[in-house]
Amino acid sequence: MSIVTRFPPSPTGMMHIGNARTALFNWLYARAKGGQFLVRIEDTDRARHSEEAVQVILDSLDWLGLDYDNTPESQYANRDRHIEVAYQLLADGKAYKCYCTPEELEEMREAAKKTGLPAYDRRWRDRDESEAPEGVEPVIRIKAPLEGSSSIHDEVQGDVKIENKQLDDMIILRSDGTPTYMLAVVVDDHDMGVTHVIRGDDHLNNTFRQNMIYTACGWEQPIYAHLPLIHGPDGAKFSKRHGAVGVGEFEKLGYLPEALCNYLLRLGWSHGDDEIISMERAVELFDLNAVNKSAAKFDYAKLENLNAYYMKEADNERLIDLLGPFLQEHHDIIISDVGLERLQKGMDGLKDRSKTLIELAKESVFYLKDDFDYDDKALKHLNSDSSIIFNGLLSVFDNLDEFKAAQIEATCRDFASEKADGKLGKVMMPLRAALTGTDKSPSLFEAAEILGKNETCRRIQNAIEFIEKG
Ligand code: GLU
Repeated sequence: MSIVTRFPPSPTGMMHIGNARTALFNWLYARAKGGQFLVRIEDTDRARHSEEAVQVILDSLDWLGLDYDNTPESQYANRDRHIEVAYQLLADGKAYKCYCTPEELEEMREAAKKTGLPAYDRRWRDRDESEAPEGVEPVIRIKAPLEGSSSIHDEVQGDVKIENKQLDDMIILRSDGTPTYMLAVVVDDHDMGVTHVIRGDDHLNNTFRQNMIYTACGWEQPIYAHLPLIHGPDGAKFSKRHGAVGVGEFEKLGYLPEALCNYLLRLGWSHGDDEIISMERAVELFDLNAVNKSAAKFDYAKLENLNAYYMKEADNERLIDLLGPFLQEHHDIIISDVGLERLQKGMDGLKDRSKTLIELAKESVFYLKDDFDYDDKALKHLNSDSSIIFNGLLSVFDNLDEFKAAQIEATCRDFASEKADGKLGKVMMPLRAALTGTDKSPSLFEAAEILGKNETCRRIQNAIEFIEKG
C-alpha cells in the first residue's frame, strides 16, 4: 500500500507546538514509508478566515523543513463535493432530512441531560417528508447504527470500543446548505486518498462518528493513530500562560528548526534512550509503534539544551546568516564587512557559548560594535589599578611582530608574572572589560587576535581615557 498522510490545520493565526508535532509525525511517517504527506487547510470558518493566517501555517511548515507533496488544498473549495456526498447519502437512504425547530431541539436537549445519551431522538428518521412543517429548512442527518457496538484499532491507543447507542444521527448538512466539519473531513480524506490519519487524541471521539460516514458511503476507513496531547510544564493544557507555544514564537526566541523537530520527536516517540536524533535518522527509524501512549509535558530547559547542541553543530556561515535579523532587532546592528570577517573567524568560540540565536547575537556584539558602553560587571574592573595594567599592556603589545593568540597569551602571562604577582586574572579581567565591554567572552587571546592589534590597542586606550574621565 502506498501511504498517504495528511496535515489539516485550521488557520488560527499561529501554529501551536502540538500541531507542529502532529505535522512532524505525519511527515516522518510518510517519509519513512516512501509515501506522501499532504496539507489541507480547514478554512470553512469564513467569518474568521484570513489568508495571512494560512500563510503563517505554511511558513511554519517551511521553517520546520516539513515539505509537502501537494499544493495545499482548501476545504472550503471542496464544499460542492461535500454537498454532493450528503445528497447521495440521502438518495441511498443512509441519511434523511430533519425538520425539527430550534424549540424542539432545545426540549430534547433538556430531556437528554438526565440520560447522558445523544439528545436528538431521531424523530424524523422514519417520518414522511409530506409531514414537513411550512417554512422550516431541513438539515440532513446521517442514520447512526441503532444497536451493537463499534470499535477501532488505533495504532497508538490500541483497541477502542463504544456502544452504538452513544452515536447520534449527526447533522452532515446544515439547514443553510453548508456541510458540517465531520462530513468535510471524511470526504476530503477519502478524496485525497489518505491512508493514515495521525492526529491529536482529542479527535478520538470524532473517529467513531466519522467512521459512520465512511460506512454509509461504502468507503474504506483509514488507519488511525491518535497522539497523546502535549501538556504545559505544570501538567495543565499547554497555553500562552506557560510561555511560547507557537512555532513562530520559538523561531523569534532564536531556536533552530532542527532542535525544535528533535525535541518534538522525542516528546511523544522514543528510540531507546537516544536524545539526539537528526531528522535524517528519524526518517530511518520512525514507526507508529514507538509512539508513547501517555501525554508529555513540555520542558523548556530541555529544548534549550538541545538547541545549544544543534548550535554547536550548525555550519558557521548558516549561523551568521540566521544571526542578521537578531542583531538588527535586539542590538540595532547591521553586519559590516569587517564585522563579517570577525564573525567568520570567531564563530567557533561564540557558538560554543550560546544556547539560542538571541544569546549568540549578544555574544557577538563586541566583534561588531567598535564603540560600546561598559556594563556593570565590566565597570568593576576599570579603575586606577587597571589603568597601570593597560598602559603596560599597550607597550608590550606594541612590541609584538605577530599578533596571534599564542603570542598574545605568552605576552599576557609574562606581563602578569612581572607586574601582577603572577596573577593572570588581574590582567585578563580588565583586558576583557576593555575589549568586550563585559566580564564574559570567548577566549580573550583569540578575540584579541581577531580584533587585530590596532583595534585591541584602540579599545585599551579608550578604557584608559574612560578611567581618566572618572
Ligand atoms: N482541523 C483539525 C484540527 O486542527 C484537524 C482534525 C483532523 O486531523 O482530523 O484540529
